[in-house]
Amino acid sequence: MILRLARRALGFPARRKLTQYEATARRILTSDASCRQFTDAALRERAGELRRRAQAGIALDDIKVDVFALVREAARRALGEHPVPAQLIGALALHDGHIAEMKTGEGKTLAATLVCALNALSGHGVHVATPNDYLAERDANWMRPVYDLLGLSVGVVTQEMDDDVRREAYRCDITYGIASEFSFDYLRDNMKFTTAETVQRGHGFALIDEVDAVLIDEATMPLALFGPLGDHSGFYRAIDMVIATLQPAHYDIDHRRRVALTETGYSEVDRGLRQRGLLKADTTLHEIASISLLHHVVQALRAHVVLARDRDYVVQDGQVTIVDTLTGRPMPGRRYDEGLHQALEAKEGCAIGEETRTLAATTFQTYFRRYAKLAGMTGTAITDAVEYRDVYSLDVVAVPTHRPLIRVDESALHATAADKRAAILREVESAHARRQPVLIGAPSIERSEALAALLEANGWRQSGAPPNGEISEKTFALLNAKHHAREAHIIASAGAPGAVTIATAMAGRGTDIRLGGEHADDVTRARVIAAGGLLVIGSTHHEQERPDRQLRGRAGRQGDPGRSIFHASLEDEFLTTAAVRAPSPVQNTPVATSVAKRLIRTAQRRHETRNIDRRLGLLRFDAIIQHQYDTLYDMRRDIRDGDNPLFLAQRLRREAVDDLIARFAPPDAPWDIDGLDHAIRSILTLAVDLSPPSAQRTIDSENLKQTIYAMADRWMEGKVASIGEALLGDILRRLMMALIDQLWSEQFERLEHLKRQIGDRRLPPHKVVAEFQHEAFDLFERTVMDFRHDLTAHAMRVGIKASS
Ligand code: ADP
Ligand code: MG
Repeated sequence: MILRLARRALGFPARRKLTQYEATARRILTSDASCRQFTDAALRERAGELRRRAQAGIALDDIKVDVFALVREAARRALGEHPVPAQLIGALALHDGHIAEMKTGEGKTLAATLVCALNALSGHGVHVATPNDYLAERDANWMRPVYDLLGLSVGVVTQEMDDDVRREAYRCDITYGIASEFSFDYLRDNMKFTTAETVQRGHGFALIDEVDAVLIDEATMPLALFGPLGDHSGFYRAIDMVIATLQPAHYDIDHRRRVALTETGYSEVDRGLRQRGLLKADTTLHEIASISLLHHVVQALRAHVVLARDRDYVVQDGQVTIVDTLTGRPMPGRRYDEGLHQALEAKEGCAIGEETRTLAATTFQTYFRRYAKLAGMTGTAITDAVEYRDVYSLDVVAVPTHRPLIRVDESALHATAADKRAAILREVESAHARRQPVLIGAPSIERSEALAALLEANGWRQSGAPPNGEISEKTFALLNAKHHAREAHIIASAGAPGAVTIATAMAGRGTDIRLGGEHADDVTRARVIAAGGLLVIGSTHHEQERPDRQLRGRAGRQGDPGRSIFHASLEDEFLTTAAVRAPSPVQNTPVATSVAKRLIRTAQRRHETRNIDRRLGLLRFDAIIQHQYDTLYDMRRDIRDGDNPLFLAQRLRREAVDDLIARFAPPDAPWDIDGLDHAIRSILTLAVDLSPPSAQRTIDSENLKQTIYAMADRWMEGKVASIGEALLGDILRRLMMALIDQLWSEQFERLEHLKRQIGDRRLPPHKVVAEFQHEAFDLFERTVMDFRHDLTAHAMRVGIKASS
């Protein structure tokens, strides 16, 4: 209900914007005529002049008409393609930081050059995110001649590149690459020790192509950098020894095979851990600081009482191998994650495997929110307007197509899956008989393979790249987004007469299907048009409406004829998992169209609401984690780029002293002289003359603080004298950065453990985020305290070994 209201509310301002864009587009068309007579050199000179004006501070909005006109002329000269008004409107929407919905084949790649060129003039660098490496290269090379004419440089970042090449690519005015490379470069830059080593130069404007894939489908997929953690076998063995002695009264197992310690179990484990030095005398597993220890205790418990040897895993040649529970076959090389495999190895007395640790992580959702300006384009955005608005504060503008759409869209809802398969087969056979090209969409790789098997069982044969021209044999191609470059070629030929192609949603995305085939002559093209254009068959509805529309959108591009039909059945997963009340199936009788329509809509709405809630929930967790990351890494960047590490080290040292005084010699409570002495010796390496407080504890406390400050300062001054200020500063700078990296990776791990445990606590939904936030903050304060203590302890011990 709320969803529908919001949807309607989005309509009005979007329409007003469109009217504005249309007016601006008309001004661009007029101004464009005056660019015609420019020589190429004059074109570039004019672009240079606009760049100077932009960098002198004139608003991009004030020059956008001039720039668009210039780019339009450059495109005409370089590519022979003159951006049409629909493309200008799309580009204007992108420039305003919106999501532009432009249908497949409308020319988004070219439209993007307009807004990229304009924003590049500001000098901040433009990032264009494409769905895969192949498209990053293709689009950059395709559009380079346009940018060249304007004197703008273009770079590409791909996975296999060293930092020097990468840095060059980022130095260009416009940089193409896949979304994950941009995100990883950001994470890696954050861990560099000098500014000169970093590769990115900021986050000004990002344009995301096929934006729904990045900001909706894969929005919360974790992007993590890993590093080796080293040998922790002693830790696992010690925990194992504690867990091995537990009795059934010490734990509970619920019906979902989840295990938890009972209260007696907790005290028993606490005692065992203390004995083995894993838990300090005055702490327990219940405390937030023990969160990671508790995680590993629970994993060891699972290894002992939930997983059974020769049922869940086998031990072969001294190794723990997971068994596939369905087939009973061992699966060598697969490992349980989050320390469970190590716990099993400890239980079975096997060698304990090395671990990796997450050094830093982000998601597209959080990474792309860093940009000062963000825009995206895709064929299907309107259906996700609410989510773009709620999560990213982005508005959707639906750009009308250049030519009217004449595609015919249909749906059929069959009673059974068998009926559905038969209908799909009939559809393919009859289209092939008149050589109408067919694209069959599947929701997953498994389903695409099942469709291939269906065709094969009926006399069809799978082939690789289709030959040019007419395909008369019963052959089909199968694409599942594994080999982007090869699949791009196959999908480009999917419009050839008689071609049959099975594809998953991502396969060949970003590549156009032209009627007749990739380089078809007019006769072939006319033949395909006569046969009805491209026929798109959906083999089931998706959980969301968008991928359905995306698939249909493959047909009928740029005013081409075409038809799309979904064949679904009452047995399909999208219906059965949505818990909608469906009519009882009558074999061989499809559900009436009006009933089917309503059913499909209801199911999809239900799934969509569920998914949005899930993503918003994750966003709140991730936003908290990201906020901590940003706080630490902003500080790390200040340390890296700032000029006075000694001063910062002193401030942190004083704060560390404050911590000790507050804990051991507070103004308002008894003092712990022994504890203080021990802490000062171990952290500050100093021996301070400590006498018990007099009647005036507040003054004593303050005096003691000042004494320790002064002694510590003197000690460090001695180091400055012997090592030299510049060198000592450098050492401290690196020390601080390395400490932050290490502490963050530990903190991140604790937060992940916390996330998982909060889920197990079965709290009412409204309390979940609050509880997470509260405990995450506690953990963060401890991390920051560890930072100043560790740093101080290291700094007080810095020395230069005399070279021998
Ligand atoms: P989209 O990304 O929107 O699906 P593409 O950018 O791949 O579409 O472009 C589809 C096709 O349209 C390309 O072959 C391109 O050359 C062509 N095209 C785009 N804009 C124009 C134009 N203004 N004039 C002529 N052809 C164009
Ligand atoms: Mg595209």
